[in-house]
Amino acid sequence: AKREGRGIVRVFDESMDENVKLRRSIEGGLSKAIEKGELHLVYQPIVAREGLEIVGFEALLRWNTDAHGPISPAVFIPIAEESNLIHELGDWVLEQSLDMVKDWPGQYVSVNFSPRQFRRHNFVGRILDRVQRAGVDPQRVQIEITETAIFDDADRAAETLYKLRQMGFRIALDDFGTGYSSLYNIRKFALDCLKIDRSFIDGMGRERESAAIVQSIVHLGRSLGLGVIAEGVETEAQVQALRVAGCSHLQGYFFSRPVEAAVARTMAASLYLT
Ligand code: C2E
Ligand code: CA
Ligand code: CA
Ligand code: CA
Repeated sequence: AKREGRGIVRVFDESMDENVKLRRSIEGGLSKAIEKGELHLVYQPIVAREGLEIVGFEALLRWNTDAHGPISPAVFIPIAEESNLIHELGDWVLEQSLDMVKDWPGQYVSVNFSPRQFRRHNFVGRILDRVQRAGVDPQRVQIEITETAIFDDADRAAETLYKLRQMGFRIALDDFGTGYSSLYNIRKFALDCLKIDRSFIDGMGRERESAAIVQSIVHLGRSLGLGVIAEGVETEAQVQALRVAGCSHLQGYFFSRPVEAAVARTMAASLYLT
């Protein structure tokens, strides 16, 4: 029994070890990724329902490592988010995005900000400073934040969003429907649009609940005067259902995967998806 017990402990220790090792290795690699040129952004068009007009592009971070190949942002962003690394990455993402948006005729760039970035001291001042130095109109920058970023300290968040909106930035509430926000409370935040999380769009054709949730988010958005972006749209059937629901903006593989900068530039120049 003793031996068995020790065995269990040893196995447990080893898997902990592996986990910690992996995290450390990702952290270590990430801290050098910028200077090594391993990071780049891809851009996914956001289209208005009528006529497939491209109104903006979401910037999405990619990391190609020499040692392990590509690593998903779903893996490394949460690790970066646990330390100040997220600030270094986030600053780089914003800088690249601002440089990119200048090459497009009029579309906005939609940039993801993690909760830690959003709560950083002087977030408003920092972002304004960068945008001004880049010579970009704030109206061409959409800030994507999640419910977690704003509901923990709602009063402070409301003030931050108000200031950003006053300066002309667009504000999108990302992954909407997956967090804990009370529908009542979202009225106090200065938002431009809600992004319906992909999980609901995904379920639309299969479960009645998802379709109903999508319907009510679209209604909620419209009654509050907000735009609604459906993310993760993959099928014609979803497009039809979203059209019926009255969703104003769509994004997903059905229209385009995230594309490299040069391709985004060409798409942006043609104004419409063909
Ligand atoms: P997100 O903000 O919810 O981004 C949407 C994700 O869905 C992206 O995954 C996108 O590539 C993917 N996607 C778009 N359309 C479709 C579709 O039709 N079908 C499917 N299956 N997927 C679709 P990605 O690029 O792997 O990013 C994952 C998450 O990593 C993002 O989720 C976001 O939370 C985070 N992330 C990515 N780039 C950044 C960044 O620059 N900063 C921060 N803070 N987070 C980022
Ligand atoms: Ca440029
Ligand atoms: Ca997003
Ligand atoms: Ca999402």
